[in-house]
Amino acid sequence: MSTWYQQLSHQLEIDRDLGVQFIQRDTNVAAPVEQEDPDLSKQQPLPGLELSGSAAEQLETIATAVAACTRCGLCEKRKNSVPGEGHAEAELMFIGEGPGADEDRQGRPFVGAAGQLLDKMINAMGFERSDVYIANIVKCRPPGNRTPEEDEAAACMPWLEQQINIIQPKIICTLGNTPLRALSGNPKAGITRMRGKEFMWQDIPVIPTFHPSYLLRNAEAKKPCWEDLKLVVSKLGRELP
Ligand code: SF4
Repeated sequence: MSTWYQQLSHQLEIDRDLGVQFIQRDTNVAAPVEQEDPDLSKQQPLPGLELSGSAAEQLETIATAVAACTRCGLCEKRKNSVPGEGHAEAELMFIGEGPGADEDRQGRPFVGAAGQLLDKMINAMGFERSDVYIANIVKCRPPGNRTPEEDEAAACMPWLEQQINIIQPKIICTLGNTPLRALSGNPKAGITRMRGKEFMWQDIPVIPTFHPSYLLRNAEAKKPCWEDLKLVVSKLGRELP
């Protein structure tokens, strides 16, 4: 059992010892973030996609198109695109920053050390990885794992928007600064101040929290992250396992 899981279990034991029967909704909910108009000049329209069939089939069509995408320079060095994976009608969607080396090799999101931690977080919330959908802001690996540039994120955003529109999750949980900035429309938003503060993307509530790779380097961030994840569970009308 890992340190992370032990911490979650310990937190649950504390809750139970205190007689907590239900998860309290966090009242520290921010006013919705004013979304700036997206800079459409940076976004080229997607090539006409024939989206038909089930949600899973539509996501497969997008994955095939993403594999051939050359909308930004990140296509040049990718081994594999990483479109995202999970339940096509998931009620919960996680959005990270972009693929790293392991993800680039395998063509799957969150499969490295940060991915293993994300799996534990998902399990602690009462889900299996296959119950949720996991995607990233950019679908090709930025060289050296650098942060994606704004124009790269803008070029890739229409793919993600299509995925969200197909999946229609009840809640989106963003991981780290990059998806927080992309979905809030605020390029200066910082996760340390914004974590756990709900805002809306279109009509879907978004709860931002830390990226698992940050948690691996900063153990003190795990507790506030767990608070954010408990808020997500609460908002979904569920109870912790
Ligand atoms: S990162 Fe996104 S926009 Fe850029 S090439 Fe890959 S799929 Fe296309």
